[in-house]
Amino acid sequence: MVIASYAGTPAPAGAGNLSRAGEIFQLLRDGRARTRSELAASTGLARSTVAARIDALLESGMVGPAGEAASSGGRPPSRFAFNPSARTVLGVDVGATHVIVAASDLTGDVLATERHDVDIADGPTEVLSWIVTHGQNLLEKIGRDVSALAGVGIGLPGPVEHSTGKPTNPPIMPGWDGFDVPAFIQRFWDTQVLVDNDVNIMALGEQASYWPDEQNLIFVKVATGIGAGIISSGALQRGAVGTAGDLGHVRVPRGDAVRCRCGNYGCLEALASGPAVATALSRTGAAVHDGADVLQLARNGNEAARDALRQAGRDIGDVLATCVSLLNPSMIVIGGSVANEGENVMAGIREVVYRRSMPLATAQLNVVLSKAGTQAGVLGASRMVIEHVLSPASIEAIVAGA
Ligand SMILES: [Zn+2]
Repeated sequence: MVIASYAGTPAPAGAGNLSRAGEIFQLLRDGRARTRSELAASTGLARSTVAARIDALLESGMVGPAGEAASSGGRPPSRFAFNPSARTVLGVDVGATHVIVAASDLTGDVLATERHDVDIADGPTEVLSWIVTHGQNLLEKIGRDVSALAGVGIGLPGPVEHSTGKPTNPPIMPGWDGFDVPAFIQRFWDTQVLVDNDVNIMALGEQASYWPDEQNLIFVKVATGIGAGIISSGALQRGAVGTAGDLGHVRVPRGDAVRCRCGNYGCLEALASGPAVATALSRTGAAVHDGADVLQLARNGNEAARDALRQAGRDIGDVLATCVSLLNPSMIVIGGSVANEGENVMAGIREVVYRRSMPLATAQLNVVLSKAGTQAGVLGASRMVIEHVLSPASIEAIVAGA
């Protein structure tokens, strides 16, 4: 399985024997059990070197014994495999009005989840304290100690400086600007804490869990806001300051007279987000207040609501057609609450993307609804941590300390 690489710590060049433990471990990550001889043949390392590295990996618990291979005479050789339950990961998806926490093993398999209504505007101390309390509960529920925690991944609904884990001028998160999220969590847990924008995390979760072979994927979240996470050549693209994929404020020609909450006119978000569609529809006399009302009307067969959603899809498709020319993705995944009832929005998006893009760019392009749905965020938050803690450099550090 190919997994999008995350900006983890690269293996230091010439790190010597220790780096070999990381290298051997990468081979074992596919879950297949191997003997020392097989590992020596795959890596080109001396059998004695492999034996020493395997001993270190066994001691760390990251690799475990996995039976014996068939013998060609004499004592049958032992086999070893990756042990995904050696550590636990907490993935956290923080939305404007909810928090989901999931505990996973090192393959990303979710072991337990909790979801609660939490208002992000209550501020970082309140929200992050909730995460610590409920994360602790989850660990107890699955019988794991905090010492087995490999890391915590958090997705926040605003721009985040990934290298420091600090939100930067988030519009809907009063009190969070510049707040040191990792430092707060680390007051309670001595573990890695990685933070990113929620749409980046969703892109990662969707890709790793459902489209592992797609190396060029754009995940578009259509909800109260509109944004995209971009995976290009297998790697998540954040851009210079982390705002790559911020499609919500791209200008759409149809919207010249519509003012956006950012102060500009004609932004995609001011036309095609859940609240924007509801506002436009309510002007025609429909009793709708938010995106959920519009979706309910459409489900009930209301033509005006269906048309409004399809038009929102066309506006999104307008912007995505440019993305297709720029990035040549093989897959566009549409997620978020507005897309969850997606047929009308999807129809509008497909109509414009396929009409406006060059045939060569769309020949291999699929536009699909999110399969991860409301789980995309926690799956991606866990994945972010897993890619980091299982990188060759991190494995070397674990082995060195074992
Ligand atoms: Zn705007």
